Amino acid sequence: MESEILSRMGDAVEEIRGRIVPNQPLSAVTWFRVGGPAELLFQPADELDLSVFMKALPDDVPVTVIGLGSNLLVRDGGLKGVVIRLPMKSFGQVEYLGNHQFKVGASVPDKKLAEEAAKTGTGGFAFYTGIPGGVGGALRMNAGAHGVETNERVVNVNAVQRDGEILTLTNEDMGYAYRHSSAATDLIFTSAIMQGVAQPEAEIRKEMADVVEHREKAQPIREKTGGSTFKNPPNHSAWRVVDDAGCRGLQIGGAQMSQLHCNFMLNVGEATAHDLELLGETVRAQALEKTGIRLEWEIKRLGDFIEGQEIAPFLGND
Ligand SMILES: Cc1cc2nc3c(=O)[nH]c(=O)nc-3n(C[C@H](O)[C@H](O)[C@H](O)COP(=O)(O)OP(=O)(O)OC[C@H]3O[C@@H](n4cnc5c(N)ncnc54)[C@H](O)[C@@H]3O)c2cc1C
Repeated sequence: MESEILSRMGDAVEEIRGRIVPNQPLSAVTWFRVGGPAELLFQPADELDLSVFMKALPDDVPVTVIGLGSNLLVRDGGLKGVVIRLPMKSFGQVEYLGNHQFKVGASVPDKKLAEEAAKTGTGGFAFYTGIPGGVGGALRMNAGAHGVETNERVVNVNAVQRDGEILTLTNEDMGYAYRHSSAATDLIFTSAIMQGVAQPEAEIRKEMADVVEHREKAQPIREKTGGSTFKNPPNHSAWRVVDDAGCRGLQIGGAQMSQLHCNFMLNVGEATAHDLELLGETVRAQALEKTGIRLEWEIKRLGDFIEGQEIAPFLGND
């Protein structure tokens, strides 16, 4: 396996039990189905393996962690350094601890957590039924819906630092705000303790069914999308700003603002990451001009532009 990063790690690589693959296309793991390759993709065998790997990794190598890819726009030039993806096998467990508390692995799909909570008569997790990401992404994004956010469930979070140290963060340490955590950006969340409340299972099932029904009607959930493109500005709905800017249905290449829910961006054909980001910045520029509102991306854009295809924020009219 040829990789400059691995050769710099030397013999330490022999101790790693997880899977290491150079030059791995990321379009296969993002919901948009776009994006260039990861220079090196690492899927650790478990938390200890991740820690050993991080300790051995030279300090100057960039590290990016990705979850289920439902909120990501990976640029066409791909990601330099190491991309970490925690496999389901070792990070995909939900353990009931009693008293409506769970230990949840970072790769557990949000929907699975909602399901496991319902089975134990634990309320407060039904909103996850409609969010297609994993718990690691929810912890980072403070994912929320239907008036509930992840931070309301989090007791504490286990994480591996860039230097390989394993640590536990309290809810307060996570520094939660709307769709944001101010915890250090290089932390890799591995699991969390989450707390719900007692609620009859039948009531929870009804809530979950309502969430599914609402999604089916209001969002293009079967498309290649990244969920809400922009955060809601204070006292506004992002979709309304997009609409007022005349951008519902706007299309660039294979990228389109959804007709059904105009804050969702879609890959309607063979979009590149460039098409999608250019569309997003066109919408931001048009919204600023027509409504005076500065939309901020909710979707995380990662990686490098292909040379000559750089896109300036607000198309340079900021
Ligand atoms: C159809 C659709 C509907 C959606 N609806 C909602 C909604 O109602 N509410 C909502 O909040 N979101 C929604 N989203 C967005 C998305 O599902 C959430 O943000 C989700 O929490 C992202 O999780 P993920 O595993 O896919 O993370 P990714 O998209 O892979 O990553 C998102 C961010 O989290 C970080 N991250 C991922 N895993 C870890 C980890 N283990 N440790 C540290 N950082 C990590 C990544 O670095 C990145 O910055 C929707 C998306 C789609 C496609």
